[in-house]
Formats: sequence, structure tokens, C-alpha cells
Amino acid sequence: MSDAHFSLRPPRFCPNCGGHLTERLLETEDRPRLVCDQCQRIAYLNPRIVAGVIIERGGRLLLLRRAIEPRYGTWTFPAGYMEIDETAEEAAVREAEEEIGLKVKTGPLVGVYSRPAPESPGILVVVFQGQRPTGRVKVGHEVLEARWFSLDDIPWSELSFPTTHWALDAWLRARRDTRRRRPQRAARPRPRRRGG
Ligand SMILES: [Zn+2]
Repeated sequence: MSDAHFSLRPPRFCPNCGGHLTERLLETEDRPRLVCDQCQRIAYLNPRIVAGVIIERGGRLLLLRRAIEPRYGTWTFPAGYMEIDETAEEAAVREAEEEIGLKVKTGPLVGVYSRPAPESPGILVVVFQGQRPTGRVKVGHEVLEARWFSLDDIPWSELSFPTTHWALDAWLRARRDTRRRRPQRAARPRPRRRGG
């Protein structure tokens, strides 16, 4: 994840005009909101969105070890906060390249996971399968190391976040199901051409 910390402290100034924000209970809202004393706009606090990819090559899974807080030294897949002008897929691809130097294509969605405040920063994590990785692994400045793990060797007790755990779990299950559903197909007899 790119961003080291996300402060749980609510903002004090209006992002629109810089005026002071005061918590107020408005008739139109179902909970207290931060309202600007100057322009009267509401500063909504929404979750931040993280996009990531789970990359597999030759039956092994790529994980990286975080070189940043929180959860310094723990393992996760490439993921980070979306930029305002990106799609989730673009963010996931960019993070993979920044963090481990691999170019990937996003495949099917693995899952969408919430970690609401106040127990966590208040994030939504969108995880894709990362397909056809190319290039050589080269770790970015937020990563201690990257390693290809065999699926029996996933460091479950040293994963970075609950969302890391949930996503890897779902990814493994989906992978197993796909393989089960894909029976060894018998070679289909070729249609015989008429007249030779
Ligand atoms: Zn304002």
C-alpha cells in the first residue's frame, strides 16, 4: 500500500473555501456532519479506495514485504490508494509496477473488502487477479523484498491486514473451483471434410 498512514483525525478546514469546519446535526442528515462556517458546505468523510492485484506465475504467488508503516515487515500483494484520475484496474496495474517492477494485466475481480473506521482507516479494497506478469522483479522504495511463494507456503500469520487474508483466501478458493470445473477435455474429433 502506497500511503504510509491515514490519519483518523477529522479535517479542520473546508476543502472548498478553507473555512473552519464545525460538527453539526442538520435536519437533512442522519448523523452529525462537519459543516463549513463560511460556505456552509458539508465535508463528508468517506472511505478511501485501495486497489490491488494478486499475481501468479507458474503456480507460485508473488508477495511483497512492506518497508513502511503500518505493519512494517509484513507480507501483502501489490496494492495502494487510487488516484483521482484512475480506474481501479489502472491503479492496481500502476501499484504492481511501482512496488515490484512487474507489468501485469488485470483479470477477473477477486473481491471487494471493507475495513470501516474506527477500527481501521476506513478503506475499501478492490482486488483483481493479476495476469501475464512480464519484466523482472525490482522492488520499489516502499518494499523490503518480493518473493514468489508456493501456495502451501503462504505466510498466513505474517500477512499485513485482514483484507490481505480475506483476498488471498478468496483467490485460492476461486482458483480451486476453476480447476475443478475445468475437466480434462477429451480431444474433440475433428469434423471430416467432405470431398477430401
Ligand atoms: Zn467552506
